[in-house]
Amino acid sequence: MPIDRTGEDRPLLFVGWIDALPVPAALIRPLARGNFRLHASNAAFDRLGLSPAGLTAPIELRRAIERADQDPEDTQEFSCQLGEGPAARDLRGSIGPLSEECGGDHLFLLTLIDRTQEMMTERNLRRELVSDSLTGLPNRAGFEELVEQRIADDAESDHAILLLDLARFSRINEHIGPLAGDELIITVARRLKSSLRSGDILARTGGDEFAISSRIAGGRADVREIARRIRGCFDHPFRIGELKVSVDCALGCTIQVGGDRDVADQVRHAQIALKRAKQTDRIEIYEPEAAMLSDNRFGLETALRSAIEEDRLYLAFQPLIELATGKVSGFEALARWDNKSGDAISPTEFIPIAEDSGLIVPLGQWAIAKAASTIAEWDAKNGGVPVDCYFSVNVSAIQLVRDDVATVVRRALEANDVGGERLMIELTESAIIGDPDLALSVLSELKALHTRVAMDDFGTGYSNLAYLQRLPLDVLKIDRSFVDHMVDDRDKVAIVRTIQSLAEALGMKTTAEGVETADQARLLSALGCDFGQGFLFAHPMASDAAFDYWRQSLSRPIF
Ligand code: C2E
Ligand code: MG
Ligand code: MG
Repeated sequence: MPIDRTGEDRPLLFVGWIDALPVPAALIRPLARGNFRLHASNAAFDRLGLSPAGLTAPIELRRAIERADQDPEDTQEFSCQLGEGPAARDLRGSIGPLSEECGGDHLFLLTLIDRTQEMMTERNLRRELVSDSLTGLPNRAGFEELVEQRIADDAESDHAILLLDLARFSRINEHIGPLAGDELIITVARRLKSSLRSGDILARTGGDEFAISSRIAGGRADVREIARRIRGCFDHPFRIGELKVSVDCALGCTIQVGGDRDVADQVRHAQIALKRAKQTDRIEIYEPEAAMLSDNRFGLETALRSAIEEDRLYLAFQPLIELATGKVSGFEALARWDNKSGDAISPTEFIPIAEDSGLIVPLGQWAIAKAASTIAEWDAKNGGVPVDCYFSVNVSAIQLVRDDVATVVRRALEANDVGGERLMIELTESAIIGDPDLALSVLSELKALHTRVAMDDFGTGYSNLAYLQRLPLDVLKIDRSFVDHMVDDRDKVAIVRTIQSLAEALGMKTTAEGVETADQARLLSALGCDFGQGFLFAHPMASDAAFDYWRQSLSRPIF
């Protein structure tokens, strides 16, 4: 029966409706520090045994009452646990203001929903999700969770993850039958467990795969010691019923340096080591990425060397469009390499390798020579009339230092009998910053051949305006990053405008890289940018397709 327990001298509220609510409910008035006065309650609420003074109220409830007191307009939600041990109840509650019509006056309706059963089911389900039903050990998900937890608790220490795979388990399983196979797994799990140090985590992460996480102090030596101890578990045969079964295992490990939290990644590393261990029959410790990468780089370097020697690189041509007229003014020649399986390897991948290995010098010489010979080819295709466009070739900063670029260009022009004005050389800012005097002398030699020079990816480096003024540059190529999304980014527009006025002041032209939309092209054109290059006009194309593109552009402007 609802009663008004406030004892205040004012009309008794009609609170009978609270009994009709199907969940524990009470009308409360907040007091200081999350305490409350119980104004009315229903029987379901009374059964929970929350004392009117709020003394037994869980902290979450008290905080919610405090919030309600401070912010009486809003409903406050909370979750809490009442009581301890098996009798504990999981509750979800809300505290909302009672309207004036209901006799509000800083009274709140507190309702609770008992979620004990639901939470128990959820917990059981979770337990099932993270554990292996055969051995009772954590499974892969459970292992990752536990290790993550442990790293969070002890970020200072290094840990090792060891993955263990039973050798030829499927064959053994076939031989002794699946029931005995299960028993073998259970026995292995037990033996492994007894070999571990306290605090180690053991899990069954696959049919015949176990994972161990262990804190280590002595780096690789410590890991090898743990691995040897684990391997020692397999020194004696396992007894399964009447049978004695000898089992061997492969072990792959990885070291997790303090605070390195990506456990899934670490497990993947241990798997790579395990795979190697299966081949070498030794305990393998994962080598850090750099070592793997250098393996891969070395492989790529060898392949690239032979691709250059066997003349298997080719050039792709991407048009440079004059924005004011929509005419093709030239093409950038971009190196392309398809490996022996026919997969294209991006220049962003192989150019750095070429630069590191010195292969950039023959590669760059080849690109210049190939561009010049393609010009001659195009002229011939055009009935012997010189095609009215130039090719722009990239030269790396490293080549500029190690090679005599001007001589390479001169020889390529002479060999194909084409004029220097048909070539442009693209240099990045780093080529100039590295050795400005050298850059100045090479550029001057190129000028003497009538070859033009563009500064590539302008805006991404650290160009000093003084250098820019000194160098006989013809074009600034505005880096793609400023063009990308420039239409709705005022900062980018401001940068492009600045580069544009700088170029104009120095008597240089500009080319915008990475033009992908007509809006960008229009905006660039309005800002005074001279040329555009990008997927809007065309992707880089093979020589024949590029020639056709040029020929067609004569009868209709591209833009
Ligand atoms: P880069 O000189 O700045 O060349 C422009 C790059 O932007 C090319 O990538 C081109 O395909 C790409 N691109 C063109 N239009 C668009 C566009 O609208 N959107 C986007 N997202 N990308 C666009 P690619 O061919 O992959 O070349 C990458 C870089 O590799 C080049 O950048 C250049 O620095 C270098 N490279 C290529 N060929 C050679 C070469 O023969 N010698 C040297 N030293 N470097 C080269
Ligand atoms: Mg370029
Ligand atoms: Mg560029």
